[in-house]
Amino acid sequence: MCGIVGYVGPKNAVPLLIEGLKRLEYRGYDSAGVAVRGADGKLRVRKRLGRLSNLEEALEASPLSGGLGIGHTRWATHGEPSEVNSHPHLDGSGRIAVVHNGIIENDSELRAELQAKGHVFLSQTDTEVIPHLIEEILKESGKTPAEAIREALKRAKGAYALGIVFRDQPDVLYAAR
Ligand code: GLU
Repeated sequence: MCGIVGYVGPKNAVPLLIEGLKRLEYRGYDSAGVAVRGADGKLRVRKRLGRLSNLEEALEASPLSGGLGIGHTRWATHGEPSEVNSHPHLDGSGRIAVVHNGIIENDSELRAELQAKGHVFLSQTDTEVIPHLIEEILKESGKTPAEAIREALKRAKGAYALGIVFRDQPDVLYAAR
């Protein structure tokens, strides 16, 4: 079991995400990461294999700040424990960041379909299909982000919980299960 935290508001998300992840450490994990939307509108990710203190060190060496963010402690099911497989995962354009608890059962089918449409995957996780699927739905349909998430989740089979942020929506944090 992993942990998911999110923050949107007037404070810097980073210390709050780390504090939230610390409270979830008892659940067990193999890696941890955060994605934060900076004041310049970019989503930035830091991830580390192993203890949360490794992520804290990475954030000390290379700090992030912003009022919207998601954090994750991972317990690998699809793909080995590694930095590249840790969450958050992004879509191809870097506009959507996703953290995920659970399993997407039809991930290989969705991955093949998205690859055929030109999507390039960086990790071995089932999770990574979600940001790419939302990206594809937004591109094809002109739906809103909330509608695109709903559509993506109709297609993703399994038992899961998700935290999702969009670069272009600085005041919105999406959660779904
Ligand atoms: N299935 C996802 C993965 O392997 C999420 C695992 C979890 O719940 O931490 O990355």
